[in-house]
Amino acid sequence: MSANDNNLEKLHHLLALRGLDRLLAVMVSDCGWAFVRWSDGVLRGGEDYGGSPFAVILSVCPLHWLSWEFVLVESAVTRNSFLCSLSQLVRWMATKAEELGVEIYPGFAASEILYNKNHEVAGIATNDMGIAKDGSRKDNFQRGVELKGMWRVTLLSEGCRGSLSEKIIKEYKLREKGKAQHQTYALGIKEVWEIDASKHQPGFVLHTLGWPLDYNTYGGSFIYHMKDNLVSVGLVVALNYQNPFLNPYEEFQKLKHHPAIKPMLEGGSVIQYGARTLNEGGFQAFDYGLVPGLTMSAIEHYILRGRSPWTLKHGKPDHEATNVANLHSPIHYPKPDGVISFDMPTSLYRSNTNHDHDQPAHLRLKDPLIPQQVNFPEFAGPESRYCPARVYEYLPDDSGDMKLQINAQNCLHCKACDIKDPKQNIEWTVPEGGGGPGYSVM
Ligand SMILES: Cc1cc2nc3c(=O)[nH]c(=O)nc-3n(C[C@H](O)[C@H](O)[C@H](O)COP(=O)(O)OP(=O)(O)OC[C@H]3O[C@@H](n4cnc5c(N)ncnc54)[C@H](O)[C@@H]3O)c2cc1C
Ligand code: SF4
Repeated sequence: MSANDNNLEKLHHLLALRGLDRLLAVMVSDCGWAFVRWSDGVLRGGEDYGGSPFAVILSVCPLHWLSWEFVLVESAVTRNSFLCSLSQLVRWMATKAEELGVEIYPGFAASEILYNKNHEVAGIATNDMGIAKDGSRKDNFQRGVELKGMWRVTLLSEGCRGSLSEKIIKEYKLREKGKAQHQTYALGIKEVWEIDASKHQPGFVLHTLGWPLDYNTYGGSFIYHMKDNLVSVGLVVALNYQNPFLNPYEEFQKLKHHPAIKPMLEGGSVIQYGARTLNEGGFQAFDYGLVPGLTMSAIEHYILRGRSPWTLKHGKPDHEATNVANLHSPIHYPKPDGVISFDMPTSLYRSNTNHDHDQPAHLRLKDPLIPQQVNFPEFAGPESRYCPARVYEYLPDDSGDMKLQINAQNCLHCKACDIKDPKQNIEWTVPEGGGGPGYSVM
């Protein structure tokens, strides 16, 4: 069982105690992949799965050390599990939830926490819609609504680095009270390909560690063969990397050229592109994530053989881990070939991301001068590289000084900027409801 399964099961149990277990359907959401357990899990054995997106039974889950010299090592096998697209799963779950009377309001973003007179969370408010960039009301203006007092529990399920969840964590000092360390994160970037039927092995999973990442950067790749000749291929990069010149998007494009991967993709086409951060904090921050999970399972299995004294503590928070640029040399990435690797505009088009241009900026700089006074001169503008949507670009102004331009309409809502900005100067807030990536098979 993966740590993620474990957490979901714990949550499922908790909700079941309150008769809320069906609500779990709306908590599993639209990024990444779900290994859905057959029994005692999110969905129970024996239910009618007719019309569900579940495609293939997960067959084998090998862990490979990927280098040009050698590819070896087989590890954990996950059985009795299904492999499916999480966005398809969630859409299917939404229909099931609605059949059970759950009301779902897609296209509305929760922008504010509401408290009662005892300073307890009483609900949320959605943001106003139809506000122009300059703050004026447009013709389609609609006041946000308060949702409170209708239920006993307000459950925030915003996923990794939720904007309201972070506020609650700070407001109630939850980390301090739980004696938890800071959270650490990784950025996952992936594509869904349709490949040649002769190369497709439904249910087959490949996990790798190492190349193209260097030895100082944690991370690994995954390849999942789903149904209908669809394959998900992606790279997860821990955001505590030090080199400000590292570009996770370019590392991912490089990965696909490995001789163990490229032949599988040749002749295929990309259906979708996307990115999202995930919690990687480990036990010290409540959760066990994919990258340390993979790394630890490899070390545990092959080196320590079950005798690991896991008393590790995190290092610095991810934003503090970035070194100043003069300690590193720029990394030169190969140009995309347009067949296996792609430029950013092509990938963004495949993400279906969309935001109304005329709305207040949802990516806010606490101090607008920090990019030109600190980020660019000291860190060589790392936001122009870690953002998997090239939202941040440094361009020369009339006097030749580099200024930050924010292309907020490209944002994939991955939250990497909120996490990795060296001075924690970027605040991700919810855009007008309905904006964001339009994933259908991710
Ligand atoms: C590349 C990648 C690969 C992964 N692979 C796997 C895997 O193989 N197996 C696995 O088990 N896990 C995997 N994961 C992790 C998995 O995707 C996550 O654990 C899971 O998606 C978390 O679900 P969630 O509902 O908590 O958050 P999310 O999936 O992030 O969903 C949160 C939802 O809330 C919405 N939202 C956020 N804030 C607001 C707001 N204020 N108002 C309204 N809506 C809001 C978001 O738009 C989103 O739809 C992967 C993650 C990534 C990034
Ligand atoms: S702007 Fe921030 S949240 Fe949006 S895609 Fe870039 S890094 Fe991710």
